[in-house]
Amino acid sequence: MKVDVTKKSATNIFDGPYYLNIDGQLVQTAESFGVENPATGEVFAQAPSASPEQLEKAISAAKTAFKSWSKFSYDEREQYLKAYAAELDAHRDELARLLTLEQGKPFATEAVPEVDQAIRYIREIAERRIPVEIVEENESHIVELHHTPLGVVGAITPWNFPVLLTLWKVAPALITGNTMVVKPSPFTPLTLLRAGQIAQSVLPAGVLSIITGGNELGPQMTEHPDLAKISFTGSTETGKHVIRSAASTVKRLTLEMGGNDAAIVLPDADWKTIVPQLFWGAVGNLGQWCVGIKRLYVHSSFRKEFVAEFVDYAKKQKLGNGMDADVVLGPVQNKMQYEKVKTFLADIKANGQNIVLGGDVDDNQPGYFIPVTVVDNPSEQSKIVQEEQFGPIVPIIEYDDVDDVINRANNSPFGLGGSVWGQNTKAAVEVANQLETGMVWVNEIHTQGVDIPFGGHKQSGLGTEQGHEGRLLFTNPKTVLIKK
Ligand code: NAD
Repeated sequence: MKVDVTKKSATNIFDGPYYLNIDGQLVQTAESFGVENPATGEVFAQAPSASPEQLEKAISAAKTAFKSWSKFSYDEREQYLKAYAAELDAHRDELARLLTLEQGKPFATEAVPEVDQAIRYIREIAERRIPVEIVEENESHIVELHHTPLGVVGAITPWNFPVLLTLWKVAPALITGNTMVVKPSPFTPLTLLRAGQIAQSVLPAGVLSIITGGNELGPQMTEHPDLAKISFTGSTETGKHVIRSAASTVKRLTLEMGGNDAAIVLPDADWKTIVPQLFWGAVGNLGQWCVGIKRLYVHSSFRKEFVAEFVDYAKKQKLGNGMDADVVLGPVQNKMQYEKVKTFLADIKANGQNIVLGGDVDDNQPGYFIPVTVVDNPSEQSKIVQEEQFGPIVPIIEYDDVDDVINRANNSPFGLGGSVWGQNTKAAVEVANQLETGMVWVNEIHTQGVDIPFGGHKQSGLGTEQGHEGRLLFTNPKTVLIKK
């Protein structure tokens, strides 16, 4: 059954039932699993649970599709990707609504921008090229460097920005000539199933399949001999499993994993004006952000005033159901994460740290709501400073000496992102240059783009996404030496 999404009403398409997308077809499964709305805790839809045979079929279809897709020119693939972006755009509000229902993020301020950004990435990446380079030429020979597609790429993605973090893998994989099988997080399968359904009406069969089901599909992909690469975004723990499992077939890997990003507010910072940026940098998406500020280091000369201003700003932001118009902070996405964030609150309380906002969770109310919690000056060794909270708890930590705070920021197994804030840009950049992270923002935060490499150092990642560097990682370098 091939569906032309343009001929169906939004309600029909976006209110279930949901199907796998395999080889251009919408496919039913014997098993399904419930998808919860984290704002209510209620199961509101059933997602298809793929059998191992169905995943196998998607990989096999992608392998067949690769033969013709990889032979298309960049210009032809650009046309397909732009048609796909246009179809997604035509359904943008429905996709964003579904994203809010399954993920929890506020519709207008976060779900719509995420869908828009994903569409923009597809459009812009469609225009990028990796040309053949002449690396040497003399009287006797010419040496060309080609970048050939890898084959079938598997994408394994998380629940925090399911749409953006998946489609920003799909676009570079496809433009460079690969085909792709995507396994979304079981917590947020629906919006991507719809995005996959839309793809079936635009892209050739087998080029993109979205397969949902339990975590056990992950190892089936990472071990599969016909997947040339795994592009993974998720926790460092799972990433280590992926590395081990991919070894037997020498898969290419790009891993985007956890972080414990520090923001350093320098002594000369105009700190009052940057409180909103720092607030949203820390608790945008309710802190469920790999590059969210997880540790906020503020100079001792204004820490007390800063904390008061931060708390004041935080109190004005409404937490609630993301479908309500005035809500700007949604729930924690799932029960497991909710329980995990509560262990941080318990630890903070057990160690008598100073909670100056929030801290209390009402388990009797429906949904997974944790209020923004600000901890004033916890010790450097505390759990909230040392570990990735991935939730709305902000430790604001005092420092005196800039060299010391650089050391503290670097004293982490993670090295994803970081930010430095100060009026003297040159001095701030000098600090930024000393941070051991894949990305560092100076006096801005979380700007991203298709030509801006995104990736982590140390245990935060392997390889990079986006930028020319990221796109190269969807290809094999191939040197062609030709005698004249
Ligand atoms: P997770 O590691 O639990 O799951 C990620 C994906 O891996 C899911 O699709 C899951 O089903 C799959 N998976 C689970 N077990 C697997 C296995 N054994 N083999 C293969 N795949 C398996 O992560 P999560 O809880 O969904 O996401 C939160 C984490 O992701 C946080 O640590 C966050 O920092 C990180 N993250 C990183 C980035 C980044 O770009 N660096 C972006 C977003 C999230």
